[in-house]
Amino acid sequence: MSSSHPSVDAVVVGAGFGGLYALHCLRQMGFSALCFEAGDGVGGTWYWNRYPGARCDVESMQYSYSFSEELDQEWTWSEKYSPQPEILAYANHVADRFDLRRDIRFETRVVAATFDEARALWTVETDRDDRVEARFVIMAVGCLSAANKPPFEGMDDFKGPIYHTGEWPKEGVDFTGQRVAVIGTGSSAIQSIPLIAAEAKALTVFQRTPSYTVPAYNAKLDPDYVARVKAGYPALRAKARSRPTGFYFPFNAQPALEATPQERQRQYEEAWARGGLPFLGAYGDLLFNKQANDTIADFARGKIRSIVEDPATAALLSPDNVFGCKRLCVDTDYYATFNKPHVRLVDVSKTPIERFTAEGVVVAGRTYPADAVVCATGFAAMTGSYDKMRITGRGGLTLAEKWAAGPRTYLGVASAGFPNLFMVTGPGSPSVLASMIQAIEQHVDWMVDLMAHMRDVGARSFEPKVADEDQWVAHVNEVSQVSLRSTCSSWYVGTNVPGRPRVFMPYIGGFPVYVQKCNEVMDTGYDGFVLDGTETTGNAPPEVRLTKRWHVPLDMDVISPAMLAAKRVPVV
Ligand code: FAD
Ligand code: NAP
Repeated sequence: MSSSHPSVDAVVVGAGFGGLYALHCLRQMGFSALCFEAGDGVGGTWYWNRYPGARCDVESMQYSYSFSEELDQEWTWSEKYSPQPEILAYANHVADRFDLRRDIRFETRVVAATFDEARALWTVETDRDDRVEARFVIMAVGCLSAANKPPFEGMDDFKGPIYHTGEWPKEGVDFTGQRVAVIGTGSSAIQSIPLIAAEAKALTVFQRTPSYTVPAYNAKLDPDYVARVKAGYPALRAKARSRPTGFYFPFNAQPALEATPQERQRQYEEAWARGGLPFLGAYGDLLFNKQANDTIADFARGKIRSIVEDPATAALLSPDNVFGCKRLCVDTDYYATFNKPHVRLVDVSKTPIERFTAEGVVVAGRTYPADAVVCATGFAAMTGSYDKMRITGRGGLTLAEKWAAGPRTYLGVASAGFPNLFMVTGPGSPSVLASMIQAIEQHVDWMVDLMAHMRDVGARSFEPKVADEDQWVAHVNEVSQVSLRSTCSSWYVGTNVPGRPRVFMPYIGGFPVYVQKCNEVMDTGYDGFVLDGTETTGNAPPEVRLTKRWHVPLDMDVISPAMLAAKRVPVV
């Protein structure tokens, strides 16, 4: 029998870093919660992506939760960029330390969520026939969690195994003595190719678009360095939050074209020698000014030519698009791997993969024999995991219908017509353009605060106003146009998967700018939202709870007032 009482206050979908933190915060604030996770363990990205070489590209001492000083002090990362098993162990440690598992149902996929307007409750259904009623649903389903598996013709005929990097077998794969084909040359391919090449008898890499990649210079962490960082962890976390990316690294705000060619060369060499994503912080205008970008792109192509011995292969590996337009990759020995005699690069930019046969992969009528194929073909990013569920809001409208021409949210956190449904790092929030764990923590803190506020004032439902959502969508779009990042085809704009609308999905205005906007909304009594069908006044009622407010001064060495005015916040 139905009543207007939910069985839990909130259902959380997903037990990656987002879902785990949501569970923790909900409990802290006295809400009951139940989490469903499709996998049989916690960790999300780090549970699914077990391919050889998988590791983070934001330094581990920053790619970790910041909410608990005790956790920061007791956990010790072993490497600058720790490998997937260690990040997964960390997620498991967090789940145990904060006793989160008892509220997680594993191997259970949410297939539908339906809002009952009269009772202001969601009914959540799973593939194990659960039906749970909840006042709130927190979607922590991940931005890079729905594998993109291009339906190549003849895949079923292939006689060997076909793997996807984002759904890698738990037991691992031994490629020793095998002929392996890798499809794709994005971050996952670039991390795995050198290690697959080390095992395989022959490796063929099918490249549609070359990526820019910068050396990681990964290394074991020196215990003295770790101790120093731990001694000043709160200060480092604060500095990180004030950066457009939500993580801290040396950054030079000077425009590239103000430097002489010799100065630029020196600057790029120094930045290359430090390696990693901070390479893109060599100058402040690299993602706004095509001429400036050409200088770093030329430098990177020079590096490729200096490493790859065969000029034709070097040319094929050299991107001609904007440097950093697609997500910059970070590698260990990627380019040098193409100097090995058993590694071959096949260009599929003009002649796409035709089909699979029992023997291998066919391009332009030629069969490239393989014993195993690795699809490093990425994800239906940002919205892919939402698309897999039937989410029905007010008036029977589904989220898929509403988002048919591209996702629409207010602040990336909620969507009009879908009351009481939160999205962790949803489209329209900085999400993948920030260090994700910081972005997750900020989002979850903000959401749970809104829930607590609603409890305080006796509200049953919240929802963004259409006008504010429209303005936010327009703003996200406008800001993206200022950046060169919007100029190429990438998963940021959805075009990596055929048939998806071209929309720049993450908010590129910078993490602290975004956080200030969220704070403003909170300070004004949730301006832009309706609570129980009533517009908020725009004046903060005294009850507004600001328990988890994020303090994020802008780092003015990196974000100048002029940049802000021109919406040219440099996001690396
Ligand atoms: P996820 O970790 O993706 O977790 C979502 C969970 O939801 C998954 O476990 C999934 O099974 C579950 N789920 C989805 N739909 C359903 C459903 N319907 N029912 C039940 N469960 C469901 N970010 C960085 O900032 N730095 C990095 O260095 C970095 N490296 C990365 C490396 C790789 C290989 C990849 C793929 C991504 C990387 N990212 C990185 C981004 C990474 O996704 C985030 O940092 C972070 O782990 C996301 O956490 P999440 O909880 O939001 O999502
Ligand atoms: P990706 O960057 O989207 O790369 C997918 C690759 O597959 C691209 O080279 C793409 O070519 C190719 N591809 C897709 N469909 C194809 C087809 N039909 N035929 C031929 N080639 C095809 O995916 P990803 O490498 O998994 O990375 C996704 C994101 O996850 C990254 O950008 C990053 O944010 C995160 N990640 C991070 C790390 C890390 O270093 N920490 C590692 C892995 C992933 P096109 O470019 O032409 O589309």
